[in-house]
Amino acid sequence: MQDKNALLRTLPQVEELLEQPCLAPALEALPRQLVVEAARAAVADARQALLAGNASAAPSAEGIAQAAYLRTLALGQRSLRRVVNASGVIVHTNLGRSPLAASAIEAVNDVIAGYSTLEYDTAAMARGSRHAHCEQLICALTGAQAAIAVNNNAAAVMMVLSQFAAGWEAVVSRGEEVEIGGSFRIPDIMAQSHAQMVEVGATNKTHASDYRRALGPQTAMLLKVHRSNFRLVGFTEEVGVAELAAIAAEENARRSADEPRVLVYEDQGSGAFIRLDCFGSYAEPAVRESLDAGADIVSFSGDKLLGGPQAGIIVGRRELIDQLKRNPLARALRLDKMTLAALEATLRLYLEPQRALREIPTLRMLATPASELLPRAQALLAALQKALPAGCARLELAEEVSRAGGGALPMCDIPSWAVSIAFERGSALECQRYMTSGRELPVVGRISREQLLLDVRTLLSAEEESEAVAAVAEYFAAL
Ligand SMILES: *Cc1c(COP(=O)(O)O)cnc(C)c1O
Repeated sequence: MQDKNALLRTLPQVEELLEQPCLAPALEALPRQLVVEAARAAVADARQALLAGNASAAPSAEGIAQAAYLRTLALGQRSLRRVVNASGVIVHTNLGRSPLAASAIEAVNDVIAGYSTLEYDTAAMARGSRHAHCEQLICALTGAQAAIAVNNNAAAVMMVLSQFAAGWEAVVSRGEEVEIGGSFRIPDIMAQSHAQMVEVGATNKTHASDYRRALGPQTAMLLKVHRSNFRLVGFTEEVGVAELAAIAAEENARRSADEPRVLVYEDQGSGAFIRLDCFGSYAEPAVRESLDAGADIVSFSGDKLLGGPQAGIIVGRRELIDQLKRNPLARALRLDKMTLAALEATLRLYLEPQRALREIPTLRMLATPASELLPRAQALLAALQKALPAGCARLELAEEVSRAGGGALPMCDIPSWAVSIAFERGSALECQRYMTSGRELPVVGRISREQLLLDVRTLLSAEEESEAVAAVAEYFAAL
């Protein structure tokens, strides 16, 4: 105990730290308050380490000032900022899912710098509806009668269930009670929206007869949930939308006019407008196919395979969508003007599918063949060879697989090219830590078998490739 107290007394004062040369640039660049706060926190960390018995000697003033300096870097920069994604995961949920197309960025900029037609009908010179900006486009692209876009697809599911199944029964297959991530689980969302969940079938197999048996006077909905982030393989069976629609139609024909209709609702998750043939049988179902098969309502995300901003899009029969528009949740979950601008511009690109494939980054990255990535990986390799000191790492081209991410195409290996870095000095983990937490523009790679991989598929520009090179070079320089 005596020893510890003696050690604690050797810790430097905050004022002493501020004299250290390594904090001079921070004092120049930042308000003094922030630097003092960082120094205080760094001393507190050192004190904690001593008290916990993790250190036998107090760190030097210079060491603590270095730690304080790292803290000032974090305090001085924006928290939400750009990242270079070299992980090869295209719709990376932690990294903001889909980058926007240039025309979507332009539309956002145009709308946020001044006033806009958000709820103004220029023809009528009167109040308009914010739903109007995207609805016709969505209908044209999916064949739906009507559409509404809300905050995200989780909100869409919540809203559809509480509008049409609250106080009633909704039937769902045990093979589709999925967890999407975070706290979004089908059974929980059912409970939250006051729908009575009726589970049918087994984990691996659900038959049409299971749904038929579950039907009763309280049934309001047959819910189908797309298995976005996993696949069932082997001895499996599921009931498609067409068959669910037939089952609902039989039941509705039996019901009298004053009883509610049984609705078929598909939560499609990713919701593609274009079937990407490059993925063959793994291709995600398109929204239009589900409507054509007889779904009354379909919902899907705006920022997964669609490649737009965060949004949840609900399409379906007009009288149903009209009811949703009048639901108070539509007000609570409505989109803001930035998102609406980005969504409308993204949807416009889909009117010319070839243009969508070229200009929507998510689609472009998904569809680029590996052969086109090879020259880019070779250029990245050459740039790294030039930038890194000799003898610090072995660099190689690596035939790799990218992932769609975002809970889409889970089984689909997308052939890609990466540069693999095997470390002679330092390690892949340390390098990744440096690249993400040690610099203002984080670069996120992928670690596999102690090697750091930089997958060129998700690098969006030559500038980002240079940033990745610079980040690795800085790591070796700092070693
Ligand atoms: C991703 C997903 C959701 C949630 O969508 P968000 O847009 O992330 O809110 C809901 N259902 C399924 C099937 C999904 O794949």
